[in-house]
Amino acid sequence: MSDIKQVDVLIAGQGAAAFSAGLYSSRYQVETLIVGEQFGGETAIGGTIENYPGQPDIDGFDLMMKFKEQVDNLNTPTVYSNLKSVEKRGDVFRAVLDNGTEIDAISVILAVGRERRKLSLHNEEQWTGNGVSYCSTCDAPLYRNKHAAAVVGGGNAAVEGAVLLAKYAEVIYLIYRRDKLTRPEPILLKVLDQTENVKILYSTEVTELVGSDETGLTGIRISKPWEGQYELTIDGLFVEAGADPRLEIPNQLGLEINPKTGEVHVDNELNTSVEGIYAAGDLTDGTELKQTITAAAQGAIAALSAYQHVMEVKASR
Ligand SMILES: Cc1cc2nc3c(=O)[nH]c(=O)nc-3n(C[C@H](O)[C@H](O)[C@H](O)COP(=O)(O)OP(=O)(O)OC[C@H]3O[C@@H](n4cnc5c(N)ncnc54)[C@H](O)[C@@H]3O)c2cc1C
Repeated sequence: MSDIKQVDVLIAGQGAAAFSAGLYSSRYQVETLIVGEQFGGETAIGGTIENYPGQPDIDGFDLMMKFKEQVDNLNTPTVYSNLKSVEKRGDVFRAVLDNGTEIDAISVILAVGRERRKLSLHNEEQWTGNGVSYCSTCDAPLYRNKHAAAVVGGGNAAVEGAVLLAKYAEVIYLIYRRDKLTRPEPILLKVLDQTENVKILYSTEVTELVGSDETGLTGIRISKPWEGQYELTIDGLFVEAGADPRLEIPNQLGLEINPKTGEVHVDNELNTSVEGIYAAGDLTDGTELKQTITAAAQGAIAALSAYQHVMEVKASR
């Protein structure tokens, strides 16, 4: 007997999009399997989530636990191993996990998110959610009435982040390693110009995070040519240096990638360019708004599309 596991719907990821897809898929009564090494995705490490409807000010990890509990209650299994490869075999997809498990699935939903670009500084990971953030849209309100915050980056997200933070904290430093902002949209640059409490530090790099495990981040050391290094006391550091969609599996499958955003291209039903493969959440170009609620919504829609494909394939056998 073959020891290759057979499922109807295979879901890769353990974040909002994946659990939501798992919930809907299981409720469609098709055999569903969730795979992924790291529980909770970005939401789980996001600290307090203030904007998930119905769950005000919930810790991201706790919110993801609720997502998972709901899926577990439907007896949907999770395998704690990442998806390593997927290839088409007849009317199914043969998936292989890092732990060697082989799975044949009729539909595959990819919800593997994005890799945030980091500064690669000591303590950056430990202090994420404790002074270090990668999402100003999400965390800016936590800096209400604080003295200072800094944003690192030179694109739209960094400028938007600085302008948003300026509504909450007294002083915002926008730190950029080049000597001119050329990438943000002109309209954003105009707004930035009119925002008096944003100070732009050009040709500047963050070289060290200052603080302790008890306090979290309390400051940064920055380096500027000709001026050397000095310390800035800040309450929060926002790294807005971009994020890269995880394209290893999409590239194996030859999925269409949006040339502008580098994200997996999907339509409104979360179909990718390969029939039977769906994508949801931050990995996709489905929406610019990369948030837990949009990822969850896309997961639900992807599950419906995946279910419909399962039904079609089974009917044709
Ligand atoms: C610091 C921070 C704070 C945030 N705060 C908020 C907030 O307050 N409110 C809000 O709405 N949004 C917030 N966000 C954004 C929100 O977390 C994301 O939009 C959301 O997590 C996207 O969900 P996702 O399921 O698409 O991806 P993710 O949450 O990134 O999940 C992807 C999952 O895929 C897994 N994975 C990766 N590779 C593989 C593989 N090969 N096989 C299987 N699994 C794989 C990962 O381990 C992870 O479990 C925040 C983000 C960050 C970084």
